[in-house]
Amino acid sequence: ASPGPITIVTGSNKGIGLEILKKLAPTSSVAILAARNPSLGEQAAQELRDHGLENVKYRPLDVSSAESIEHFVKEIQKDYGRADILVNNAGIAFKGRDPTPFRDQAAPTFKTNFWGTVELIDAMTPLLRKSTGCPCIVNVASQSGRLSILDTDRGKQAEISSPILTRDRLFELVRQFEHDVRTGTHAENGWPNTCYGMSKLALIAFGRVFARNEMEGGTEKEGKTSIWLASCCPGWCDTDMSSHSGPRTAEHGARTPAWLAMEGRQQGATAGGFFYDEKEIQW
Ligand code: NDP
Repeated sequence: ASPGPITIVTGSNKGIGLEILKKLAPTSSVAILAARNPSLGEQAAQELRDHGLENVKYRPLDVSSAESIEHFVKEIQKDYGRADILVNNAGIAFKGRDPTPFRDQAAPTFKTNFWGTVELIDAMTPLLRKSTGCPCIVNVASQSGRLSILDTDRGKQAEISSPILTRDRLFELVRQFEHDVRTGTHAENGWPNTCYGMSKLALIAFGRVFARNEMEGGTEKEGKTSIWLASCCPGWCDTDMSSHSGPRTAEHGARTPAWLAMEGRQQGATAGGFFYDEKEIQW
């Protein structure tokens, strides 16, 4: 393989993910188009190869499935033995007109946007530690997950944004939210009325904890390669997720995640930070 990172973008058969992959492929040795639907994934990869991005390869990955994650990581291990860039772009959002009752929306939303993404990060960590360069993770979150949505409960807000928040405590809080939505008690328990927003807020919180553990938590002292991570918002984009209501092209939305993946660490962008339009913004 040519020099350059082994790059993975999840949910990259369309929308913002596809555009991120297009930006990262030219400087990658291999650009993995990870998508859950085999025909959509293979078709998108073929189109990119037809347009000169010959190093694009499709690999099946459903981030909401533990078996699929396990299979995916095994294949990357077998084929490349390492990874350098992981962009967690796959995500879902229930449309306003979706007939699914609100109480049933938290579990599937968190399964993909939070739990599955966390599981993939954990499963990929050993391969990222074998990176020959500077391993990095970029999480595509959203400004829907800004801390202000928790103005409904200053105690929870302070805990989730605390510099001593642990992974376990974050998981507990997420489970509490899911439980409260399921039982119709989320509002009385101080949670906001958005599963999507909370899933992205939790993802940003996870990124802060992960980056803190990597950068300050002794990973390097243990002699291991530390993994850099940043979160971002692509902006309101014209994609299937927004029912094409967003004013921004998917290509424009892809700029910040691609910039973070290619240059963020080298340019001194804060590990664990939240970025928009290639700048760190207040979470
Ligand atoms: P799209 O709906 O156009 O694309 C989402 C992608 O994620 C698709 O490839 C989809 O696959 C994939 N996906 C969904 N669930 C899974 C899963 N379980 N496993 C693997 N892949 C999955 O959305 P966008 O391109 O707009 O969104 C990309 C990211 O940007 C998301 O994380 C979204 O939350 C975030 N974002 C988007 C904004 C916008 O305005 N569009 C604003 C802020 C954030 P499939 O084709 O099979 O459905």
